[in-house]
Amino acid sequence: MPKQIKFQTPKGMHDILPADQVYYQKIYDVVFEAANFYNFGKIDTPILEDTDLFSRSVGVATDIIKKEMYTLKTKGGDCLSLRPEGTAPIARAYIQHGMANISQPVKLWYFGPFFRYEKPQAGRYRQFWQFSFEVLGEKDGVIDAQIIQIIYDILQELKVRDLIVDINSIGCDQCRPYYKKLLTRYFKPRESYLCRDCKRRLKENVLRILDCKEEKCQAIIEEAPQSLNYLCDDCRSHFKSVIEFLDELEIPYNLNPYLVRGLDYYTKTVFEIFLQEKEEKGGLEKKEVEKGEERKEEGEEERKKKALAGGGRYDKLVSLLGGKDIPAAGGGVGVERLIEIIKTQDVKIQDKEKSQVFLAQLGQLAKRKSLKILREFRKNKIKVLEAFGKDSLKVQLNRAHNLGVKYTLILGQKEALENEIIIRDMETGKQEIVKIEKIVETIKNKLKKK
Ligand code: AMP
Repeated sequence: MPKQIKFQTPKGMHDILPADQVYYQKIYDVVFEAANFYNFGKIDTPILEDTDLFSRSVGVATDIIKKEMYTLKTKGGDCLSLRPEGTAPIARAYIQHGMANISQPVKLWYFGPFFRYEKPQAGRYRQFWQFSFEVLGEKDGVIDAQIIQIIYDILQELKVRDLIVDINSIGCDQCRPYYKKLLTRYFKPRESYLCRDCKRRLKENVLRILDCKEEKCQAIIEEAPQSLNYLCDDCRSHFKSVIEFLDELEIPYNLNPYLVRGLDYYTKTVFEIFLQEKEEKGGLEKKEVEKGEERKEEGEEERKKKALAGGGRYDKLVSLLGGKDIPAAGGGVGVERLIEIIKTQDVKIQDKEKSQVFLAQLGQLAKRKSLKILREFRKNKIKVLEAFGKDSLKVQLNRAHNLGVKYTLILGQKEALENEIIIRDMETGKQEIVKIEKIVETIKNKLKKK
């Protein structure tokens, strides 16, 4: 006998069962409506892309590229990776389809799965869903602010309370090199106090040290030079305009001078959206605290505050990938993290359509006719439940009662022969008989009156 293997989802990946689909659907519906209102076009790109697309844009020294990509070689010898993020594929599509030649800006949105080989824990998965908005072909700070506003409003519409936007500007090609030099000058004499990763970052990309959540590095980071003090005139006035738009929109934000984000392609604005501290204790954080043991095993790095959304401006990405010099900005939201918060904040998500009608049948002929009747109801957009696998009328009526429907249609052997069907009003217990060809119309009228 072959050994029984218990198959499970791959580590860090999860099934989305019907009970959770309502959350994904609700989020999708709200995002869809907002995207339509603001005139974003939906785009779907492949799950796999050339590995080089990501290493070139996200940056070879970033965690995503160094440690977190699922990479494979095809039979034809191509090196492809499961997409760890969505912006590089968007820039690739923008170039590939000549979108620079159509009216600018090009506004795109997407909703789909992404893959990162990270250490799995609450709120961090190896396959997770994101929805994102990207605007290509416009450099004005109004775009940065509008993306934040759209995401903020969507989260609010989903009843997520106590949101705060962390925002910073990391400058551009003009001012960032000097700032990086200052950072290197600051961290170099303190190198021996930094964690192993930061020692490496000091050589590869000093900006990334600012993102380290290790306690010993944090203490040093707190005194480090801040990018906002070294922005060129263009970056300074751009950032000022983004902040003024946020003020006007009354979106709460926090200037976080050490926010740099884990991807290299950002220029100027970077932002993340969090739940404010006090609320986190009652939400995600509390859940993690309750899992005491698990938490003890997590390193400091894993315990860092998890952002619900993130994004920024990427003015050099399109040209970096071989396109024209096209400014752009975007932002995305992690759907699993959002659902976790929706659940901990007790937000009620209604399963949209509750059925009012149950169809019960008895005997072979009745079962045959039932399929056809159900199909007629569907054509008329009336949802009808059934239990075709059950032959006992009593069991079916019990099911109808438990489902709380208003009407049960009973198709017994006699009725099937005479082409009739019984309508039972579940509240009053009253029954009437109608011809089968009249049943859809009759139920439609009854539901209208109720
Ligand atoms: P990023 O692409 O890193 O800017 O992430 C954008 C958003 O995606 C984050 O704010 C999270 O909400 C979500 N996210 C990123 N990585 C993961 C992950 N491993 N598991 C679940 N959600 C994630």
